[in-house]
Amino acid sequence: MSTAFISHPDTLLHVMDGHHPESPARISAIKDRLMSAHLYDYLQVHDAPPATDSQLARVHTPAYIRHIRAIAPQAGVVRLDPDTVMGPMTLAAALRAAGSAILAVDLVMSGKARNAFCCVRPPGHHAGRSRAAGFCIFNNVAVGVAHALAEYGIQRAAIIDFDVHHGDGTEDIFRENPRVMLCSTFQHPFYPYRGADTRSEHVINVPLPAGTDGAAFRQAVEREFAPALEKFAPQFVFVSAGFDAHRDDPLADLRLVRSDYVWVTEFILEVARRHAQGRVVSVLEGGYELVALADSVTAHIRTLVG
Ligand SMILES: [Zn+2]
Repeated sequence: MSTAFISHPDTLLHVMDGHHPESPARISAIKDRLMSAHLYDYLQVHDAPPATDSQLARVHTPAYIRHIRAIAPQAGVVRLDPDTVMGPMTLAAALRAAGSAILAVDLVMSGKARNAFCCVRPPGHHAGRSRAAGFCIFNNVAVGVAHALAEYGIQRAAIIDFDVHHGDGTEDIFRENPRVMLCSTFQHPFYPYRGADTRSEHVINVPLPAGTDGAAFRQAVEREFAPALEKFAPQFVFVSAGFDAHRDDPLADLRLVRSDYVWVTEFILEVARRHAQGRVVSVLEGGYELVALADSVTAHIRTLVG
């Protein structure tokens, strides 16, 4: 069994305005780096299907899904929030991004893949039940989690979110659902200015001050995530894989490097081996310095491949 790599050409056609950091070049940089590292030989490559409205409706309100479909422009752009813009291909890309998590769960649960990485955009973890935010339209990882719970009888799923921003949309969706544990490290105080005071039994929020380096990040994961995950014993482990906590990222001020992403990926794989028969689905979130992003994603995928 190998690692699935799920993407789609539509993810390159969603363009926000001006020189937006959340650009198609992010996907191209990752794919170029995977090619030069000869990693494709070890991956089963799939095109993401579009998510259906009923799959989206497990985590988004029907009114929100209707709104996004209605507002999607034929030409030009519409603004969903100060940071988030839809162009003519955005809806198609967003449906494929959410659908990638559906396919990833299907491949892993059927035993056709050991684990999976979804190389998609727009990202998802700021999208709440009924709102777009922070470059995100549909909450891709949440759509995958809800699919695993609804279709495969998974009783407990964990999401590990190491993006530099708090996964506030994911928390909004699963705050009242004890079957889903969210473990999130994030720079604080920082966008989206949430999460520092909303911890619960199954929402393990770990704010980190600007300047936090890899050693302190690893200590936080060991101290906060490890015991909670051991007790929760997830049957499936999802990853909101954002790489904007890298020290070279222009949007934020944490100081992780490639070896930290390898370390946290190994930590995640070990949790999955102990509790979840190795099931891991990782979905791309942020990461805006193209060289650091491509290098970190490649290291993450190489670790998933093993
Ligand atoms: Zn981010």
